Amino acid sequence: MCAGTGRRRGLLRTSHFRCHRLQVRPDRASNSPRLDGLGARLVTARHGRPAALDGLQQSSCANPCAMVRALKAISKSSAVALAFFAFVVAPVHVLAHATATGEMVVGAVSDVDNCTYRDTRTLRSGDNRKVLVIKAWALPASYAPTDLRLVPSAYRSGTRYVRKISWPDLKALMDAARAAGRPLYVGSAYRSYATQESLYNAYVKQYGQEEADRVSARPGHSQHQLGTTVDFVTAVGAAADDSFNSTSQARWLYYNAYKYGFVLSYPEGKESTSCYAWEGWHYRFIGRNNALEHRASGLLLDIWLKQFNTL
Ligand SMILES: [Zn+2]
Repeated sequence: MCAGTGRRRGLLRTSHFRCHRLQVRPDRASNSPRLDGLGARLVTARHGRPAALDGLQQSSCANPCAMVRALKAISKSSAVALAFFAFVVAPVHVLAHATATGEMVVGAVSDVDNCTYRDTRTLRSGDNRKVLVIKAWALPASYAPTDLRLVPSAYRSGTRYVRKISWPDLKALMDAARAAGRPLYVGSAYRSYATQESLYNAYVKQYGQEEADRVSARPGHSQHQLGTTVDFVTAVGAAADDSFNSTSQARWLYYNAYKYGFVLSYPEGKESTSCYAWEGWHYRFIGRNNALEHRASGLLLDIWLKQFNTL
């Protein structure tokens, strides 16, 4: 235990609780194990605080005793100011920011509302690994990849096509999953504009438009049109639906897919920002290096992609 007055211990307990709340809110689903660090960076940027505060706040979250030792090492007046900022201003400020936006949006990222359907067309040059496909931005109806290939029968459920640029890593992912005792198959992959239109209309007919918009993209707004997005299933003939989310395969993908360049597009508990219900089976390929960078950002995929796409 660290030494301190009863009042100081009470203060530390309160602050630690605040840090804990911040650590668990934006979350494992967005591949963000270090909200405390991200929050600290945001506070530092917004208030122009010295870099030392970044470390100070992180250590206060992880170890209250370290916070006390750090405060003792600096002047009394500075300690009071820093403690007030770290314990009261920073946690409240970061929490308010996270609550208002649902996600940590920083820098020059565009502030487009992902969840409102618009017909703004989006199609970047290059290999489109980072093209933004959301409810607000659509692919042209005529867009189709030119390098589609049939997934080998041992790896698919149904007849499925993916882009060649994603196949080596997709195969490596499924081989690794099988080696780990978590067999995966491609249950859905490339879908043309017309196929997506039929699929979406079927959802509307069955569930109504409001529910259809939670679980299916309108034509032109589906990542599946890119040819780099895969819905995994656990067996040939199995469905990619809510039952997948509780499987060991879903858990394996969550922790390992990024190593092969795949990112979970619509995580648990993020519907207000991702604009779709949790789809633990739906992964988009962006390449291994991009996936590592995305993971380090702690952002939802579509929020992270905004910095590479401008209106
Ligand atoms: Zn999907």
